[in-house]
Amino acid sequence: MRIFRGAAAAAALAAAAGSAAACGLGAGEESVARKESLVIGVKADQPGLGLRAKDGTYAGFDVDVARYVAGRLGVPPGRVTFRTTPSSIREKALADGDVDLIFATYSITARRKEAVTFGGPYYVPHQDTLVREDDSSIRNVRDLKGKRLCEVAGSNSWRRVVEEREIAATRVKAPTYSACMDLLAARRIDAVSTDDLILAGFAAGRQVKIINAPFTDEKYGVGIRKGDLEGCETVNRAITRMYQDGTAARLLTKWFKESGLKLATSVPQFEGCS
Ligand code: GLU
Repeated sequence: MRIFRGAAAAAALAAAAGSAAACGLGAGEESVARKESLVIGVKADQPGLGLRAKDGTYAGFDVDVARYVAGRLGVPPGRVTFRTTPSSIREKALADGDVDLIFATYSITARRKEAVTFGGPYYVPHQDTLVREDDSSIRNVRDLKGKRLCEVAGSNSWRRVVEEREIAATRVKAPTYSACMDLLAARRIDAVSTDDLILAGFAAGRQVKIINAPFTDEKYGVGIRKGDLEGCETVNRAITRMYQDGTAARLLTKWFKESGLKLATSVPQFEGCS
């Protein structure tokens, strides 16, 4: 009996070690929880979230949240470098080590979780749809049937419409959401459907309207190299703190007060690190 128990315990230990190796970091890879400096991927073209100025500095909600989390990880602003990370390169940038963390309107999805460990979510916006001000034919996501819809490379928003809801929109490809806005103004597309925070940032000062028909929960995650569970737990503690100490409420007000969106100021339910 004793031998049997010992064998079972040894087998259980071996299994645990095996799975830890399978999900952990590779040899020589350092957790983001232990780095002295950080390269953080953000958007460069999304007002209110991640926008790069002519002088090369970045500003927006994602940028401020990134700075706060980096600070809680022990990395001061002077040792944080921001890098433009469009939707199409996010997974690769993490896997290649070009960036340590991503704060870039990056929704946690089952597909992405295969390649990325996600901290958070740090906020949960909803997908909505933006059209030209003079267009009254699109009032609901289903009205996108037969309409020209922007498809941003590497983004999940067009999938929410075309794949998940099986709405037969005509997809028109673009590299970024700011490119979608140019296509809309040029009447080469009819609609941009994506996170309401993104749409709100673009809507200000343009001849457009958001139809106010939200239809998803977009869990904005912190992209972390796959397997860095220590980093993920540390990031989650930082996010919890950001809500507890009033920083989240302050940043949401700072960036989205004028948007008219209802802003949630309690810590979102975490996804769990995997
Ligand atoms: N949150 C959505 C996504 O991660 C749309 C915005 C984006 O692509 O950055 O796909």
